[in-house]
Amino acid sequence: MTSKATSEAKSQTPPRLEVKNLYRSFGDRNVVDGVSLAIEPGKVTCLLGPSGCGKSTTLRLIAGVDMQDTGEIYVDGNLICDTVFRIPPERRQIGLMFQDFALFPHMSVAGNVAFGLAGSAVEKRARVEELLAKVGLSWAIDAAPHALSGGEQQRVALARALAPRPRIMLMDEPFSGLDNRLRDGIRDETLALLKEEDTAVLLVTHEPEEALRMADEIALMRNGKIVQAGAPYNIYNAPVDRDAMAFFSDIN
Ligand code: ADP
Ligand code: MG
Repeated sequence: MTSKATSEAKSQTPPRLEVKNLYRSFGDRNVVDGVSLAIEPGKVTCLLGPSGCGKSTTLRLIAGVDMQDTGEIYVDGNLICDTVFRIPPERRQIGLMFQDFALFPHMSVAGNVAFGLAGSAVEKRARVEELLAKVGLSWAIDAAPHALSGGEQQRVALARALAPRPRIMLMDEPFSGLDNRLRDGIRDETLALLKEEDTAVLLVTHEPEEALRMADEIALMRNGKIVQAGAPYNIYNAPVDRDAMAFFSDIN
């Protein structure tokens, strides 16, 4: 095959997640105001924007825990939600991680990681062991969540979210609750693990520095709209307007 033919074949593969013209209003406020996005496996796409611009609402629509007014959501080219058709959240193969990643306090670490898993007890145990090894917590398999540090609990939450092999992982400011000392290490470990799994990641953050550190692609959001999207280098060096420039100017 020529390289042209190869690139054409590639461009016909649908994105892992595609969102088209998503709208959601509360009262007369258009909180999500025509958002379109595409994300690919093996990459981290950051949805970056100031507090209140509609990032979490966008994630909730994609996860299916809230419903858009109009617009479509596709996974691997298949429609999972529009205004008349809706696959429920638990059947979307989408993993979720939030800032307050509450583990189930009455279950062991193993029980938490196994929670969303189907299959035999032996299969579940194997997947739990595999993931705990990857996050460096094999020793904690029978521990209670409260016996672990914040950073360790975070890693259990990541293992739990990844255990069912989600096609897509949505992360809403997952590192905000961690103290600075821990954060860099956990960010890097999280990235390494996410890239090993065949998962496409949409990471929400309001911190430009975090997006520049973690993203392969950045979608810059403001007032419910994506105002610029592209590689971090381009977003940083060629901001679309003065507000975008100002948003990045605090970084040193
Ligand atoms: P972000 O995650 O970017 O900080 P959000 O998506 O949480 O922003 O919220 C965007 C705006 O939408 C905020 O002003 C918020 O108060 C409003 N909002 C979010 N959810 C609701 C809701 N269920 N009802 C009314 N307003 C909401
Ligand atoms: Mg939010």
